[in-house]
Amino acid sequence: MQSDELIRELIERVAGDVGLIIYTLRPKREFTDEELSAELGIEINDVRKSLFALYELGLAEYRRKRDDETGWMEYYWKINYDKQNEVLRRELLKTRRKLEEKLEMEEASVYYICVNGCIKVNYEEAMEFNFMCPRCGGFLEYFDTSLIVEKVREEIEKIDEMLSNLQ
Ligand SMILES: [Zn+2]
Repeated sequence: MQSDELIRELIERVAGDVGLIIYTLRPKREFTDEELSAELGIEINDVRKSLFALYELGLAEYRRKRDDETGWMEYYWKINYDKQNEVLRRELLKTRRKLEEKLEMEEASVYYICVNGCIKVNYEEAMEFNFMCPRCGGFLEYFDTSLIVEKVREEIEKIDEMLSNLQ
């Protein structure tokens, strides 16, 4: 996956469609949320929400200035396009850590699942239930986690590939 595609996916997830629209606008200079709202014809609250989401990600910054006429605080925004790879790397590493945790957990545990799909329990719980599902009475079968482990490993590999493409 290309980094442009990745960043779009991330922005859409965190800052929504409006965030994506703002990011793809590539504004050349600072702008206020009012200006942007008027230009895009999008509710100012939605614009603000998305801008702050971009800010949380590290992809936007602002400075505040008091308007001489109204006396109100104005936010002057700027999108940090040069932070794109840095943000992507951070998010990919975060996802990688979660996958590693999942991997450890799956590898360390033995699960049993109901043949009818009601529950998934660990060995101790399965013993307590006499290997019978407490909901439907069906058998609790040994659950092979090797497929999950393999899948998670593949995902981690994919992330590593993306990370090396970011350099
Ligand atoms: Zn069951």
